[in-house]
Amino acid sequence: MQMLTVLGSTGSIGVNTLDVVRRWKHRYGIYALVAGTNVSLLAGQIAEFEPKLAVVKDEETRQRLVAELKRLALPAGKWPQLEHGAAARVQAAIAPEVEFVLSAIVGVAGLEATFEAIRLGKRIGLANKEVLVSGGELVMAAVREFGSELLPVDSEHNGAHQCLRAGKRAEAVKLILTASGGPFRKTPKEEFARVTPAQALNHPTWKMGPRITIDSATLMNKGFEVIEACWLFDFTADEVEVVVHPQSKVHAMVEFNDGSVITQVCATDMRMPIQYALTYPERADAPVPKLRWDETHSWEFHPPDWEKFPLLGLAYQAIRAGGSAGCTLNAADEIAVEAFLEEQIPFPYVSDIVAETLDRMGVSHPQSIGELLDVDLRSRRMARELVAERAVRA
Ligand code: NDP
Repeated sequence: MQMLTVLGSTGSIGVNTLDVVRRWKHRYGIYALVAGTNVSLLAGQIAEFEPKLAVVKDEETRQRLVAELKRLALPAGKWPQLEHGAAARVQAAIAPEVEFVLSAIVGVAGLEATFEAIRLGKRIGLANKEVLVSGGELVMAAVREFGSELLPVDSEHNGAHQCLRAGKRAEAVKLILTASGGPFRKTPKEEFARVTPAQALNHPTWKMGPRITIDSATLMNKGFEVIEACWLFDFTADEVEVVVHPQSKVHAMVEFNDGSVITQVCATDMRMPIQYALTYPERADAPVPKLRWDETHSWEFHPPDWEKFPLLGLAYQAIRAGGSAGCTLNAADEIAVEAFLEEQIPFPYVSDIVAETLDRMGVSHPQSIGELLDVDLRSRRMARELVAERAVRA
């Protein structure tokens, strides 16, 4: 039985991961569940999956979890060790019993635990964007040094991983990532100032957490994916292209040196890439709807509108700049998205704040996760100041 730690078990990826595990109970067991503050969902997961360890964000949440487990009348023998905070998240990821870490916390809170698991050569199913967007240089150096395996869970990178198996890496000349285009693909830019959080949260093809949903509406998410793809598969920014494909059925394409393009196609259901990462290099029956080929499909592909979605271009700038630029890009975006969701700033200000924070922060070269987290903190502070200035003007 392979033992797993799920970082972010109460999130959209975490819940889907546990659904896959539920189907393969004889193959996978849960060593640790790590969550933020959603104690009612976590308590149910503890009762069902019986982990040895459960970790939440802080002591107050831990106490709420204790109360919730009592309310569920969980028998004494089934209580896991209950911990909280950053050090406990790392413990959950590096415990000797754990072979596979599914990294799906949103934000930099998942970075250190994932990094430490990589340093122990554990296999990682990677959903958390910040791990590579913010820490790509350090993380990939550790992957190479400690021989850990990073298996992408994000559907586009998972698709790329599958396409790349069709040839040698040296024969692959271009990676094409598809983007649904988000809810505002057809909205004129002039209307962006009136866009509400509810409209931006209404993603046409995927059901995801709020941050990534807004990032899909601005195409920031696609920009993050370009950065991740460069790190994961060793492509330059010029070798990674984005194409808008509103149907979200083709997830990625790889062009080889003879002009052949291999594409990966499947239903829009995150359980497929999660299961692929878990079972790799084998495949197994997945509980996702299969595509029907006895029906007519029309799939479109368009170039992205760079002017309407400037955050995509900023992501290319950040990967070319290297060093801390990805970390600043992510931190500023998180603050700006939060401010938009709290209706402090209008939608177009999200990209303005990210661009200005990048400009003001410049590029440094962090040598450790500690130094990286410091850049993250300073970038957030800068972005918050800009939000405050803009909120007054808005
Ligand atoms: P959600 O917002 O649905 O879930 C986030 C998870 O992180 C929750 O379990 C949350 O716990 C946990 N969390 C947040 N802060 C902390 C903290 N300080 N300490 C511990 N746990 C914390 O996000 P998603 O599942 O959608 O996404 C997770 C990651 O995967 C993101 O980086 C996202 O970009 C990436 N991703 C997601 C995809 C998707 O389809 N959803 C696709 C590809 C990538 P709680 O809710 O208990 O507070």
